Amino acid sequence: MIFFRKPIEGIERPQMPADVVIVGGGPAGMACALRLAQLIDAHNAAHPESQLSKENIYVLEKAREVGQHCLSGALLDPRSMNELLPGFEKEAPLDAKVIKEAVYFFTKNGKFKFPVTPPFLRDHGNYVISLNRFVKWLGSKVEETGITIFTGFAGSELLFSDDSKEARVIGVRTDDKGVDKEGHQKSNFEPGYDLHAKVVILAEGPRGSLTKQLITKFDLDKDANPQTYGVGVKELWEVPAGRIAAGEVIYTMGWPLTTKEYGGAWIYGSPGAESNDNIVSLGFVTGLDYADPRLDPQRVLQEFKKHPFVAKLLEGGKMIRYGAKSMPYGGWWAIPPVAGNGWMILGDSAGFLNSARLKGIHLAIKSGMLAAETAFEALTKDDSSAATLSAFQKKVESSWIKEELWKVRNLHQGFEHGMFAGMFHTGLQMITGGRGLRDRYPATAGYEHMHKLDDLPADGGPEAHLLGAAKGDGKLTFNKLTDLYHSGTKHEEDQPAHLVIHDTNICNTRCVKEFGSPCQNFCPANVYEMVDDASQPNGKRISLNPSNCVHCKTCDIADPYQIITWVPPEGGGGPNYDGM
Ligand SMILES: Cc1cc2nc3c(=O)[nH]c(=O)nc-3n(C[C@H](O)[C@H](O)[C@H](O)COP(=O)(O)OP(=O)(O)OC[C@H]3O[C@@H](n4cnc5c(N)ncnc54)[C@H](O)[C@@H]3O)c2cc1C
Ligand code: SF4
Repeated sequence: MIFFRKPIEGIERPQMPADVVIVGGGPAGMACALRLAQLIDAHNAAHPESQLSKENIYVLEKAREVGQHCLSGALLDPRSMNELLPGFEKEAPLDAKVIKEAVYFFTKNGKFKFPVTPPFLRDHGNYVISLNRFVKWLGSKVEETGITIFTGFAGSELLFSDDSKEARVIGVRTDDKGVDKEGHQKSNFEPGYDLHAKVVILAEGPRGSLTKQLITKFDLDKDANPQTYGVGVKELWEVPAGRIAAGEVIYTMGWPLTTKEYGGAWIYGSPGAESNDNIVSLGFVTGLDYADPRLDPQRVLQEFKKHPFVAKLLEGGKMIRYGAKSMPYGGWWAIPPVAGNGWMILGDSAGFLNSARLKGIHLAIKSGMLAAETAFEALTKDDSSAATLSAFQKKVESSWIKEELWKVRNLHQGFEHGMFAGMFHTGLQMITGGRGLRDRYPATAGYEHMHKLDDLPADGGPEAHLLGAAKGDGKLTFNKLTDLYHSGTKHEEDQPAHLVIHDTNICNTRCVKEFGSPCQNFCPANVYEMVDDASQPNGKRISLNPSNCVHCKTCDIADPYQIITWVPPEGGGGPNYDGM
């Protein structure tokens, strides 16, 4: 039997008062903390008689070190950083300025270069960065201001004033530490803290676990399109010098995907320790709205690398890091209300990502800045009710966040019926300022696109090369466990499973037969396994390896029965995305 993680009831917990608690120390959370510190410093300098303190402002980050769970492409659009820290280029870890872009359409062995780079993929002026290093640096700027970052602490529950729909968010409970596999307290048990905060700011990245609690409790998504996602599987390679210039950017569409799946790849060049042009960041984002439950996004990346153009680029090189993470694709219409009684939602947790540009870092930072301005107003007025915090919603709507996202508001929905329809709608949307055929295109949650095995060709048809586990040749392509080894993932082994399956009977009786247990395929870290068990009706039983989890959230998103909830494991566990 699997014991799933849940907060321990009926114990005494340390209570801690706070002014602001920011959950998640990614670009959004760090930018929020930094901007808040700037505003408080400016206020204190101008008003010696009414000083505000930064002592009770906290950032909670589940990773053991700042930036360890941050994975991105990544190209940084510097727009918001120029607003947050003018002149940041002089000291931020930026790998290279973009000097060259190309967009290709791949067929199995060939390629067509777009004669003109579409406007949304023009990257001159942007920087190639490692988000991990960039966030570490942002974190050091936050710490310099005197704001405390609690690393190794996950927000595990939201605290509400009461059970009603009008309740106020009054704080955050952190993870219980030292709980064994069966849920018993070990000798090193430490209960989570109850942080009672005037303002709780959720900056947990895509499919945030507290954000999900909040959205569910208040039905926040009732008027929004369902959020849709992609999962990006990334490898970092060291290649012989001279293959790709630092600052060279390549996007590809097409193969190995067929016209039915949504997604594409990136290849960015950056300098390494030994040469100024020998590191390649490459990855494939697969839309989590594919039809065939046997499709495996990690395999999609392996197939992509077999393309002659990519294989030649990587030949003689070495894969040095691996990781995976989801991203919200749904755009403007999928964003829920972002502020209420005691709370605000930022960055990817809200869905501020421009999927046409594959960019969200600059939007996450900008949303953090606007939330900080709102939190500052709440602190000075000593009022963090919905009336005050709803200013954040208005600030977003009158900022360049909306301006940018409005132009691509229908982009992903246009691809709901495949690539050809998508290209038609994209063209139309480009000439109508994002509108296309109607102002708001509807969307379907990605998991609803998954078909049952009986409705699919047994041999996989045109998708056959994307289905099932990649074997890997150990040089250019890898199986999942080899890739996973390069993610540096580690967890405390003796703890309850943090992939909470609400009804394992569905896995063992229905899912295995109807969908062939897609969790085994969509999880990029081999967490889910169907093991032999003669006592089960189909001879198989679900088994978990939670220690492998890279926190990508794909299972929470893509499971066709929506019975998996990802909750944070004991703080400190997870991938180690150094340099990613
Ligand atoms: C494969 C891929 C490629 C991308 N490429 C680009 C690109 O080239 N350019 C670009 O601009 N954008 C890119 N993006 C998008 C970009 O990375 C995100 O938009 C951006 O990182 C969002 O920032 P965030 O702070 O909202 O979330 P995140 O970066 O996800 O940070 C969230 C942080 O919160 C922590 N956290 C989560 N839950 C909890 C909890 N309950 N308690 C405590 N801590 C918690 C996490 O550990 C993490 O550190 C890419 C995304 C992916 C997945
Ligand atoms: S268990 Fe879920 S969150 Fe963890 S790596 Fe697998 S799919 Fe991602």
